[in-house]
Amino acid sequence: MRLFIPGPVSISKETNEAMQKEMIGHRGKEFQEIFGQCAEKLKKVFYTKNRVLISTSSGTGLMEAAIRNCVNETVLICSCGAFGKKWVQVAKSCGKNVDVLEEEAGKAIKIKALKEKIAEKNYEAVCITHNETSTGVANNLEEIAPIIKESGALFCVDAVSSAGGAKIEIDKLGIDVCVTSSQKCFSLPPGLSFGVISEKALEKAKNVKGRGYYFDFVELAKEYDTQQTPYTPAVGIIFGLKQRLEEMEKEGIGEVWARHAKLAEITQEWAKENGLQLFAEEGYRSNTVTCIENTKKINLDEVKKGLKKRGYIFDAGYRKMNDDLIAAGKNDTFRIPHMGNLKIEELKEYLQAIKEEAKL
Ligand code: PLP
Repeated sequence: MRLFIPGPVSISKETNEAMQKEMIGHRGKEFQEIFGQCAEKLKKVFYTKNRVLISTSSGTGLMEAAIRNCVNETVLICSCGAFGKKWVQVAKSCGKNVDVLEEEAGKAIKIKALKEKIAEKNYEAVCITHNETSTGVANNLEEIAPIIKESGALFCVDAVSSAGGAKIEIDKLGIDVCVTSSQKCFSLPPGLSFGVISEKALEKAKNVKGRGYYFDFVELAKEYDTQQTPYTPAVGIIFGLKQRLEEMEKEGIGEVWARHAKLAEITQEWAKENGLQLFAEEGYRSNTVTCIENTKKINLDEVKKGLKKRGYIFDAGYRKMNDDLIAAGKNDTFRIPHMGNLKIEELKEYLQAIKEEAKL
């Protein structure tokens, strides 16, 4: 079965084989070497000189870490979909005061609104979703970054469904915490997340109470500097990570970004050619997942069943958002993820299969 859901994505034979390597202890030299190599290669993917933590948790764990370590009291969340709402839930459940700048589903966060909102208070941190997986919107970090930096707040980015598939120049943008997960653009199983943390975020963390235990940046950074983790990591997935990073390096990091851009372009063109509309507004469309408005009232459940027989797992949209859209008398959506090790030809075959099943 080929997974065409926006994570987890399918894993290659080579990655699976790499993960079958004989188990090793996580306090030995061999592990330190592998960890060190992964950490250095991850820095290249993220265009950063800062630490890239390798956490044994899913991305949500490091989102919680960002809040616990960077915020004593008040945080601003920029939300334009289900995963922006996740930032809000995480921050509230950590007991923080949460202000929200909200855009409707399908729209991106706009500069003017952000400038006005940020002027209201001295926020300790501003959190945003780079790639809103539920709607296919990619917020423009280049536009947003200077506004947040100027305010003095820490800049925390959820790049769970974009990092590794889209170029994010962490240091140039001045991002203080950037979080992503293994099961999306890195084409690995779920279980790891990567978190870039700036010195500024680390300094702030030292003065934040209630950082908790598992996700304490101060402890994580201390161990990272000895090429270790404070607790037992998912060693098997780290073997896979090493293999994937080598594979990405071999493809060429620039080529990886270009392939994702091409995959997005092909998908967007396909949707338009088949009389469908893109859900994300123009100018802010994701390179890793395309969300399509079901303007032709396709029976998505039937398409899903048909595609399953052909060996594909289809994504019939983000359920909660679709329920809300339908309740508001609007069209529902479906998504075509194009992230990770997906090849152009594989995507084209999949799009043709959808066309046939949906009788477009
Ligand atoms: N943020 C975004 C944009 C996501 O797409 C997801 C998962 O789909 C998450 C956060 C949560 O990540 P995880 O499931 O790895 O905790």
